[in-house]
Amino acid sequence: MAFTAVTLSPELEELRQQVRDFLAEELPKSDKKPGLGMMAGHSPEFSRKLAERGWVGMAIPEEYGGGGATVLERFVVVEELLAAGAPLTAHWISERQTAPSLLKFGTEEQRQHFLPKIAAGEVYFSLGMSEPDSGSDLASVRTRATKVDGGYLVNGTKIWTSGAHVNDYFAVLCRTSEGETRHEGLSQLIIDLRSEGVQVSPIKLLDGNADFNEVVLEDVFVPDEMLLGDEGTGWQQVTAELAHERSSPDRYLSTFTVFKAYLDEHPEWRESERAVDAVGKMVSQYHALRQMSVSIAASLQAGDAPAVEASMLKDMGTLFEQETVEVLRSLVDLEPRRDADSEFERLLGEAILTAPGFTLRGGTNEILNMIIARELTK
Ligand SMILES: Cc1cc2nc3c(=O)[nH]c(=O)nc-3n(C[C@H](O)[C@H](O)[C@H](O)COP(=O)(O)OP(=O)(O)OC[C@H]3O[C@@H](n4cnc5c(N)ncnc54)[C@H](O)[C@@H]3O)c2cc1C
Repeated sequence: MAFTAVTLSPELEELRQQVRDFLAEELPKSDKKPGLGMMAGHSPEFSRKLAERGWVGMAIPEEYGGGGATVLERFVVVEELLAAGAPLTAHWISERQTAPSLLKFGTEEQRQHFLPKIAAGEVYFSLGMSEPDSGSDLASVRTRATKVDGGYLVNGTKIWTSGAHVNDYFAVLCRTSEGETRHEGLSQLIIDLRSEGVQVSPIKLLDGNADFNEVVLEDVFVPDEMLLGDEGTGWQQVTAELAHERSSPDRYLSTFTVFKAYLDEHPEWRESERAVDAVGKMVSQYHALRQMSVSIAASLQAGDAPAVEASMLKDMGTLFEQETVEVLRSLVDLEPRRDADSEFERLLGEAILTAPGFTLRGGTNEILNMIIARELTK
């Protein structure tokens, strides 16, 4: 395990300034208010504007319509978008996760078909992993794809599928055969969410939003061309995918907008010893987590696979996001309302209701700790 101190180059800082200028101009025009991290808001219009600047699919090679950028360049752009609470939800999964997966496992036809559309902010993906009885124990998925002439017939139920009601496709982990172990015989199929036999039903969250769904698949025909990777290698593929899911700054910046709004709207914090102490601690924690995250990005850029470091960052970062909410809440004497005019109050109200999910989504912290322990004791 290694975290190396990395200093970002002047060119990267220049890129950061360009993103800040863009956001200062574009965000006031958006109908979305600043939000929380990757769930800040679904706005295809904003995603397409960002894509026009070359900031969606940045790491996709130019031959597939992307920017051919480095991991650190993408890091800087993503960090600025998250810190501003920009509405990046529409393209988030396809950009962060599906594109790298297509590049690694997809056929040439799939890459040519999907990657330029992802980079243009025109096609959006969801993740079809979890099932009603398969969350942490993902290998127990029961969705089954049966081989038929020219493709597969898929039957099963996926759950907690974020954005399935607004996105175009999802990569579904399903069983295509019985293997000797549970990890064998799994495959990934790319399924059009508007196909016949796909039924998407919203699940209402504690905060009243319905960002994720139950997706029932009943005799859904999926053509052979939509098999992602090889038949039977689904487990290795989703494991590789999860490494991308766990190493991004979205794992410690989800509540940064709440923190920033507190500082902006409650300047009296400087007069309180308790608040000064709390703010100082939070700033130092942001700094440390960010240094870890930059180090992971630099390591990915060098071609390494820092899985343990990424799991540690997600574990520490998501716990910190939750702690931030509780600390800020303790510093003010108010009952936050999500319809309040105050940005701080609105964001705090939203964060209180959604923070429990931070340590669940993308793999729970107990599971991350098992991965860390297993790798460190190898
Ligand atoms: C906001 C949000 C968005 C999500 N979006 C998606 C999505 O788009 N697509 C998708 O496929 N999934 C999505 N998920 C699902 C997410 O990946 C699962 O919630 C997660 O993997 C946990 O699975 P589970 O909910 O079935 O909990 P369980 O696996 O039932 O776990 C319940 C509790 O038991 C603990 N536990 C389980 N097994 C062990 C063990 N062996 N040892 C110790 N403790 C254990 C867990 O840590 C957890 O605290 C989303 C979840 C959230 C909260």
